[in-house]
Amino acid sequence: MSNFNFFSIQLLALLTLSFFVFSSCGSEESRQTERSESSSVINVPTFNADSAWQFIADQLEFGYRIPGTESHLECRDYLADQLRRFGAEVEVQGFNARLFNTQTSTRAYNVIGKFNPSARQRILLGAHWDSRYVADHDPDEANRTQPVPGADDGGSGVGVLLEIARQLGENPLSNIGVDIVFFDAEDQGIDGGRDPETWGRGAQFWSHQVSRSSAPRAKYGILLDMVGASGPRFGKEGFSMRFAPDVVNTVWGVAQRLGYGHMFVNQEVQGVIDDHYFVNTIARIPMINIINRPPGTDTGFVPHWHTIHDDMDVINKSTLHAVGHTVLEVLFREDAGLL
Ligand SMILES: [Zn+2]
Repeated sequence: MSNFNFFSIQLLALLTLSFFVFSSCGSEESRQTERSESSSVINVPTFNADSAWQFIADQLEFGYRIPGTESHLECRDYLADQLRRFGAEVEVQGFNARLFNTQTSTRAYNVIGKFNPSARQRILLGAHWDSRYVADHDPDEANRTQPVPGADDGGSGVGVLLEIARQLGENPLSNIGVDIVFFDAEDQGIDGGRDPETWGRGAQFWSHQVSRSSAPRAKYGILLDMVGASGPRFGKEGFSMRFAPDVVNTVWGVAQRLGYGHMFVNQEVQGVIDDHYFVNTIARIPMINIINRPPGTDTGFVPHWHTIHDDMDVINKSTLHAVGHTVLEVLFREDAGLL
């Protein structure tokens, strides 16, 4: 990996002021509020998409991240080491998951990194780190017994969060804490939607642990899944809108003000059973899902979804940047009490 030193200071005051210049039509009183808000300056570190891209490539270097395999264990250790290196307090949470590729109980692991672990006000960030054992949506039938490389599906969310972790290590938050959870065994489920609990095994385990714990809970969570492809369309996902509509609207508002409205569109899309579903229903933490749901595909997902073509070729740095920038902006605005 190359040498990164990209911390820069963004004078959001200017940006914020310009939003209000365009949107302002209110009274003198509202203009004063705007002025006082716009006078706050927050330092948001610059998200580095090259670094995020490399974190995805690193995961694929280990091979397929399928629970029960050696390459899965190697990647688990890599994720824990990276979070530790960036200054997080790390927990590797092992659990037994009945998986449907083998019909056996398999050891799986959530990897958790806590930044500012004593802060009571916390934000949860998540992504699944396992890759699917079978490319059951590959257009070529001969490939449908092969595993999925998982660059976008799994790898991209983890890559963006590792870069955010690196930034939090170099530019610590003052007031809030952040819990980054890499969920395991999300993507080994039975296709067809009949049995949602075969998906998101790691999120189910984590959520049950949280529901029994007295530790401070996150105010809300943001899940990233398939956030790496070019020309993404992040509609407002159905379960996110059911359980956490305010969080969706806040995050989409931030993204749109940063200029990513062509990706973060104001359109509701069908819900997806994903890790956030279990965090919402079991841990009862409102958690949204930023997930690419492009129009015009048979599955509702990107064409490389659950195929052998989900490799580094589909990863686009502009998309990684838009998502990472948005999430960092949300964190630093929360830290400054501006959300
Ligand atoms: Zn998947």
